[in-house]
Amino acid sequence: MTSSDISQRFMINDSGVRGQWTLLDASFQTVLAKHDYPLEIQAVLGEMMAAAILLTSTLKFEGSMTIQARGTGTVSLLTVECTHDNKLRAIARWEGDTSGMDFRTMVGDSTLGITISPLQGERYQGIVPLDGENLSQCLESYFQYSEQLRTQIQLFHGNNRAGGLFLQILPTHSGIKTDPEAQKEEWERVTALAGTLTAEELLNLDCSTVLHRLFHEESVQLFQPEPVLFQCTCSRQRTADALIQIGKEELDSVIATEGKVDVSCQFCNERYVFDAVDVALLFTDASSESIDSGKSIN
Ligand SMILES: [Zn+2]
Repeated sequence: MTSSDISQRFMINDSGVRGQWTLLDASFQTVLAKHDYPLEIQAVLGEMMAAAILLTSTLKFEGSMTIQARGTGTVSLLTVECTHDNKLRAIARWEGDTSGMDFRTMVGDSTLGITISPLQGERYQGIVPLDGENLSQCLESYFQYSEQLRTQIQLFHGNNRAGGLFLQILPTHSGIKTDPEAQKEEWERVTALAGTLTAEELLNLDCSTVLHRLFHEESVQLFQPEPVLFQCTCSRQRTADALIQIGKEELDSVIATEGKVDVSCQFCNERYVFDAVDVALLFTDASSESIDSGKSIN
């Protein structure tokens, strides 16, 4: 076993192909520990988390990215959020039995939304039709349509780990042949080599060993590994902001029947409790300073 929760960039020099490798261990297990997910959902959540890390490293932005499927199938929601510095959280909602179901059957009639929310500027969203067999095929066709870049995405899960390998050709790279036919041949050669990768290799070996096994005759440039972490962005202040949107009347009626407003974060299970005084403070001008010092129950 190797150290994990890492994302690492590399470049296959003469081919003009860039790549990204990721392996998730503790971050994936933290997500699995929050809810009692069936195996089929664990698998797709792991793959989606690995995909989020691979895409975050590829689509340059400062802020956060969300990959989300809202389906009409047994699984109504699959979502992964990832920041530009590889902090992840993920959740799935489902109802009923998912035994033996594949990704497409679980999400039913759905699309995949990829939303980038930059720290500065407007958020933007791409829609990925779920017309592939699995998540990686859907994402590959997204890159083909939206960026017209040949992309190979391999996603794996197993033994409470998840990971993936991403390859993309850079048409303007100086090392590559300019003839489109030669480029195509080179791409096919490199992706055929990468296609021999097994789940067992990816989930148990470090990046340089994996790349050596796949591309031992190529000159591969490996960049610094970057850590990946589970981290939830919830806070008492954000919960308070969401409660204000619900409105005083509705909150007062919850206080009248329950004695408190009890909110649990769906990503990390953190609980935020607001009593009658806290709720009253939400709707006064002085609320903003007082909320963060309020009590929170872990
Ligand atoms: Zn949370």
